[in-house]
Amino acid sequence: MSLACALVGFASTLSVVTPAQAATNTVVSLTFDDGNANQMTALPILNKYGMKGTFYIITGVIGTPNYLTRANLSTLAASGNEIGAHSVNHPDLTGVPIDEAKRQICNSRADLTDWGFRVTSFAYPYASASTAVENATRDCGFNSARGLGDIASAHGCSGCDRAETLPPADPYWLKAVDQIDTTWTLQQMKNVVTAAEGRGGGLVPFTFHNICDGCDSLAISPTVLDSFLSWLKARGALGTTVKTIDQAIGGTVKPVVRIPPPTNTGLTNTSLEQSTSGTGFPDCWMAGGWGSNNPVWSRTTDAHSGSFGQRLDISGYVNGDAKLMPQMDLGSCSPSVTPGRTYNLGTWYKATGITQYALYYRNATGAWAYWTSSPWFAAASTWTQATWTTPPVPAGASGMSFGLALITNGSLTTDDYTFAGSAGGSPAAKAPATRSRPSGTTPVRATVIARGAPTVPGAGAVRPGTLIAVPTPDDAH
Ligand SMILES: [Zn+2]
Repeated sequence: MSLACALVGFASTLSVVTPAQAATNTVVSLTFDDGNANQMTALPILNKYGMKGTFYIITGVIGTPNYLTRANLSTLAASGNEIGAHSVNHPDLTGVPIDEAKRQICNSRADLTDWGFRVTSFAYPYASASTAVENATRDCGFNSARGLGDIASAHGCSGCDRAETLPPADPYWLKAVDQIDTTWTLQQMKNVVTAAEGRGGGLVPFTFHNICDGCDSLAISPTVLDSFLSWLKARGALGTTVKTIDQAIGGTVKPVVRIPPPTNTGLTNTSLEQSTSGTGFPDCWMAGGWGSNNPVWSRTTDAHSGSFGQRLDISGYVNGDAKLMPQMDLGSCSPSVTPGRTYNLGTWYKATGITQYALYYRNATGAWAYWTSSPWFAAASTWTQATWTTPPVPAGASGMSFGLALITNGSLTTDDYTFAGSAGGSPAAKAPATRSRPSGTTPVRATVIARGAPTVPGAGAVRPGTLIAVPTPDDAH
């Protein structure tokens, strides 16, 4: 009895003392990367607690399957949420020429501004930046740019600071907590906040990707998010507040900078000889693919010319394809094209199964869309050139990417790509090894837009938001 009373008395004493503590000076930002469609699930939870988030948008995927639409962005903004930018096509900005990086950074802000949003905040894809990339972000008119993983948590950076300073030492490398995935617990998230509160406060940006139960490993359950925000709301009594990045950083809206696309009309690194990125892919080339199959990529000395070709092995084929393609970018690697014109594609290949060209085009705002596919090319045990003339390029297209796609189990090695505007005439398949589709079968066509999510040898699919080539804090400056 007396023990129970003592406990009650102790709790009462705490409840009196706590609100009297000094303000924590802690600002939490809730940031959402990539514009995944399920992020709309966060909106009613934010509204429930009167909180605003920062949504970093990949402009080139807005309106495509599984991503937010422009109407969604307007809904988010109408509730007071911030629309920030996260590039046009989500490349590693340190792995592309600086001119391409500037296009990716500036034009994502220009597009979002055109769509009616107030855009001051950027987040680096894969949290990857260099001094040149940071400077480009400043020159594009952003007031800040967010990294990842530089604030101590149970998930890394144990010796690091507990918060970003306000104002930040370098607004173009905002420190942030490691991205939240399904291995995080609610308590671990709370601990990050209380650690900052106990060390004098500052800015604590959290980063979320998917809001769902079990849809992805890079996700938080809506229930856990609700619990976290409920707990954060109560911390308001101690002086801990939730703000958007723009609210936390401040500053005026700078003039918009838009970088025009380059005019190169050819391919780069056509013989696949240069490979300096460390990904196992030739510079300016990427793995594309979609559907249910298991592609494995390797750089091979089995070359048509030079020293290297690129080999693809597919197992477990159910549907879809895999192919090597010029990087789906804003023009450094993908050639510019003219609407109405036809183009001749060529690829030297060896294959144990059927292949076909899959073609994609870039529109004026840098978004990539599936265009069309060629007839099939037969297996070839010796080096064979697959050539095909495209249909006229659709209106509105500004660039092209394509790949000779393996559409069955087996192996495909390619080398010596060619691409050139044709003299005209009707589109025609001129492949020596073309065969028509067997009657009564469904054509194998890429009906799903693979947004060019690259595949890294041995590492499986790399999704937007997955950390690769993450700079250490020292490397980032
Ligand atoms: Zn991302």
